[in-house]
Amino acid sequence: MDIHELLPVLVPKAITWAKSQEAAILRAGVPLSPSGIGIAQRVGVVDPTRVRLQVVPAIPTPDDPVMARIVVEQGVFGPHTGGVTLGYGIYLVAGKWNDQLVAHELRHVHQYESLGGVEGFMPVYLAQIAQCGYRDAPLERDARAAAGEPV
Ligand SMILES: [Zn+2]
Repeated sequence: MDIHELLPVLVPKAITWAKSQEAAILRAGVPLSPSGIGIAQRVGVVDPTRVRLQVVPAIPTPDDPVMARIVVEQGVFGPHTGGVTLGYGIYLVAGKWNDQLVAHELRHVHQYESLGGVEGFMPVYLAQIAQCGYRDAPLERDARAAAGEPV
């Protein structure tokens, strides 16, 4: 599957999906603890009080078959994944997260803020994955660096 060719179709689908997931997390999630707010400020989040965390058994897979396939084939999230950030909403997988992962996901919140929300982030992020692969996408490298993970 050529992700480059799919981008014009994929980006609007990803934006729609991400916004609906963000809305669900903002309804059901919990605000950051004081220490979480400290981590958010350290990685550059402008408005940490807007962030919500929701612990889930697994990251929900998109219903759309093309999106679901990209998610799996590109390794965007799978059995190894501990968290996914969608705007101000962060999914954390039960038993698979720690402060370093929260720092990584909060750096993605900073990126959403910098790029203009889900509509601004998603085209850049998916184009980077198409060009570099998930692991080497600059936004992923930046998140790992901010969280003190091996870059
Ligand atoms: Zn990441």
